Amino acid sequence: MVKALDGLEIRPVRMSQMPGNKNWLLFFDIGEDDPRWPRLRALLHRWGRSEGSVTTSFSKQEIDSARWLEIAAWHHGYPQPKEGTFGFREATYDLSDWCRSCDIGRKQKAPFQMKREPRWGRNSLMQFVWIYDEIFATPDAWSRVFKPSGVGCRAVLNTKGVELKTVVQLVVEEPVGLRADGYASARCDQCGRTKYLPVARGFFPALRDEPSGSMARTVEYFGDGAQANHGLLVSQSIVRAMVDADIRGAWFVPVAEVT
Ligand SMILES: [Zn+2]
Repeated sequence: MVKALDGLEIRPVRMSQMPGNKNWLLFFDIGEDDPRWPRLRALLHRWGRSEGSVTTSFSKQEIDSARWLEIAAWHHGYPQPKEGTFGFREATYDLSDWCRSCDIGRKQKAPFQMKREPRWGRNSLMQFVWIYDEIFATPDAWSRVFKPSGVGCRAVLNTKGVELKTVVQLVVEEPVGLRADGYASARCDQCGRTKYLPVARGFFPALRDEPSGSMARTVEYFGDGAQANHGLLVSQSIVRAMVDADIRGAWFVPVAEVT
């Protein structure tokens, strides 16, 4: 395999040894417009290997000129309690409208819980694994960037019910609809509701309405399998404020404009 890859002159960006055996896992990062991609793809097919995941890289100009952007943040840990049995669901959400099959319909009823204070490092924003429609921030990041833009916050607790000191949840409640016709979607055969597949290529779908605030939550759900999350959007003014305040830990997908 390595010989075939050498022939393509593609170097792995990362290597790690599989736990329990001596096989190496090689990670590659390559553009779909790279002339070597069709040959690498053919090799992966021949070896029965996954093509991995797709993301789109946006230029600084594309980010800077977008009026609205989808925001995602550093993934840090699991919501509590009882992560092994998804105990956060009952503890955090009203599940009366929730569908177990597609995950649509959770409504927050209580503060999120974490095991302990986050280990922020250089980051100031984070998301939980599994929950991609909530963002958590350091109190400092909230007061410098989000509070001045009218974004509220709420407390985060540890599993004993004690309020954590170094993290708050951003309150993003304004709903915004998307012009998502034509994007791939799936209808749940249990509840009949629809969610869109994650948008991996290109811009985020254009907005149907103009939000009045500087953050909004899409009416539509995104996800595949037993997972569904709203999209979270920020205005360009928030992105600028984050850059000015050197707030790290977030990345953005520009929202398409209707032409
Ligand atoms: Zn469903």
